[in-house]
Amino acid sequence: MMKKIVILGSTGSIGANTLDIVAKFPDHFSVLGLTAGTNDQKLEEQILTFQPKLVALASDTAAQRLRARLGNHSVDILSGVEGLCAVAGLTESDLVISAIVGGAGLMPTMAALQAGRPVALANKEPMVMAGQLMQEEACKRHNRIFPIDSEHSAIFQSMEGHRKDDVRRIILTASGGPFWEWSHDQLTHASPKEALQHPNWDMGAKITIDSATLMNKGLEVIEARWLFDMPPTHIDVLIHRESIIHSLVEYCDGSVMAQLGLPDMRTPISYALAYPKRVPLYPNSLNLAQIGALTFFQPDWERFPCPRLAYEALEQGGGTPAVLNAANEVAVKAFLDGTLPFLDIAHIIQETLNGYQPLPMTSIGDALEIDRWARERAATLTMA
Ligand code: NAD
Ligand code: MG
Repeated sequence: MMKKIVILGSTGSIGANTLDIVAKFPDHFSVLGLTAGTNDQKLEEQILTFQPKLVALASDTAAQRLRARLGNHSVDILSGVEGLCAVAGLTESDLVISAIVGGAGLMPTMAALQAGRPVALANKEPMVMAGQLMQEEACKRHNRIFPIDSEHSAIFQSMEGHRKDDVRRIILTASGGPFWEWSHDQLTHASPKEALQHPNWDMGAKITIDSATLMNKGLEVIEARWLFDMPPTHIDVLIHRESIIHSLVEYCDGSVMAQLGLPDMRTPISYALAYPKRVPLYPNSLNLAQIGALTFFQPDWERFPCPRLAYEALEQGGGTPAVLNAANEVAVKAFLDGTLPFLDIAHIIQETLNGYQPLPMTSIGDALEIDRWARERAATLTMA
């Protein structure tokens, strides 16, 4: 069956990898809708190649530019958050790829769930902000959220055909990022350029910085908590430098299931796209003899405190993970802009969390309100 897909964030790293798979398997997938933030140029190329029915840009001016250039084309071009949500909620779609970066993806991803569309989730930040609400929305409509994040795809694949009650713990692997071997003193001077050089994965800027601080793993612990309905005490992190084992699931009889593969996001993306089938993406076999050795280390939450903050936020519950996420986004942006030292990313997050009076979070409106408060607070701290 041909699957009609919508891609939220099609001009990003995950978006482009998804379209690469669509182009390779045109008998399996067609593109119904695309969205981007501001990159009307790249979106235009994608429209001409993949012929979607409806697209949206977050930016009104970018959408105006695109309309002016594509006047004769049959595609409809929307803009703003409402535009993104309209594309996400297209009722003819078979799967919505959620690949916007950051909390900006919350409303569009929720719109897809509210329309009862299955979601393949790369955009982890909304899950960190409001994972429980998203799962409740999916559950209410007998709908599902499939993981794209490589670790969560590995866990998902390692749980297929097994009983969830038999799972003892989930083990998320982490490459350790570019600074794993750096001392505290060296980290004091880590520059954006150095942080943007990830050893194994080629990704967007925000997640690459999250990988350098290891906050990416903290966000992934929270993501796993909601994707797999696992208590945080049953979610562990293991440093695995080679990024070949993408994560593991341990069962009560001592068996450990894992998923292996080269570090290429197209594998987990294609699994979410083709599920429950697979597509013949890779002509070559994984050559373990050539790789030779796989190494593992205990994580170090002294040098890299961000994951510890994420565990604590999850423990606090309510709106606290949304505060963690918002403060992280603000701090990462300031670091990328060159106005915040690397080690202060964790300090800004900690300080923002310290100033938060935990409140229950029962609606997406609450989540957005908490997010707004935390961004303002973190921005003030960043400028202090
Ligand atoms: P990216 O920066 O390369 O792309 C982000 C996309 O979102 C772009 O299409 C951009 O136009 C769009 N966007 C940005 N701001 C927006 C806004 N305010 N409104 C609407 N659209 C907006 O990011 P990426 O690396 O592709 O990551 C996307 C998500 O997937 C992130 O949440 C990331 O954590 C997650 N993820 C990425 C990878 C990877 O390999 N890149 C792996 C696992 C998970
Ligand atoms: Mg990941």
